[in-house]
Amino acid sequence: MFERCPVCDLRFEREPGYFLGAMYISFVLGLSVVALIAAVLWVVTGWGFTKDTIWAVVLFLPLTPMITLFARVLWIYLDQTVDPDRG
Ligand SMILES: [Zn+2]
Repeated sequence: MFERCPVCDLRFEREPGYFLGAMYISFVLGLSVVALIAAVLWVVTGWGFTKDTIWAVVLFLPLTPMITLFARVLWIYLDQTVDPDRG
C-alpha cells in the first residue's frame, strides 16, 4: 500500500492506529458476504446451518484482502467527509 496517493498526495495513514475504524467496516462487510454466501449455499444445496456456515467461511477466506482494502477506502472517504485533511 502506498504511503501517499500518487494522484492527489493524500497521506493515507494520518496517525498510528488510523485504520482501526476500518476494522468495523470490514467486520460488517465480511459478515454480510458470509451471510450471502451461506444463503446461496442453503438455496442451492439445502445443507444444514452448520455446514452452510462452515463452507461460507471457507469460501470467504480468499476474499479477505479485497474486503480489507475496500473497507479502508470506505473508511478514508468517511474520515475525509467528517474531517478533511487540508495539509
Ligand atoms: Zn488521491
